[in-house]
Amino acid sequence: MDNKKYIPLAVNGGIGFGAKLTPKQLIALAKYLDEDTEIELTTFQQLIIQVTEDQIESVTIELENAGFSVYKVGSYVKSLRTCNFCQGAEEEGMPIAIELNKRIAGQQVPFTLRPAYTGCPNACGEPLINDIGVIKRKDHYELYVGGQAKGEDARPGVLLKDHLEPEELFSLVDSLLEVYRTNGRKRERLGKFIDRYGFDKLKNELKIS
Ligand code: SF4
Repeated sequence: MDNKKYIPLAVNGGIGFGAKLTPKQLIALAKYLDEDTEIELTTFQQLIIQVTEDQIESVTIELENAGFSVYKVGSYVKSLRTCNFCQGAEEEGMPIAIELNKRIAGQQVPFTLRPAYTGCPNACGEPLINDIGVIKRKDHYELYVGGQAKGEDARPGVLLKDHLEPEELFSLVDSLLEVYRTNGRKRERLGKFIDRYGFDKLKNELKIS
């Protein structure tokens, strides 16, 4: 790599029936990368590319035109990891997942936050081992918090609230992120923050009975 300053960007094909890319998207991606540039494939359905600072805006526009979603890397909410919506988009709440992603991905938080969504209780999108997990159960949504897949302190998330309507889900996630942003310490994961802050205190703050 030369002396230019490179900034990582996370890209994926957006929320759909599985994490898929088209040849058109791969061509658009290759156009901005040198032949030997490394592309990292993460477990979170994202490719991490490195672009120079002055290219960020143009690369983002070009990639979005090719159907990519482009996200910042660092202490932000990552894009929503989803299941494959095998029973169909409407039945499994794909529009709700898309809207939730639009609202939260890229929000600044004390530490990188991984949200996951799954269209039924089979939970293929692993919502219980991510910081925020949503499960659609029949016509309503359940919100789990504080799950962690990595480390010897790995653990499942705990149910914050169930039987949520879509608008209640969006607003509860927004409020949760606001409490975390305001009270969390730098580089404190959501689960660790909840341990320190107190689950009951968090529920009080979020007006959950
Ligand atoms: S969580 Fe349910 S809807 Fe989603 S892929 Fe798995 S079985 Fe299908």
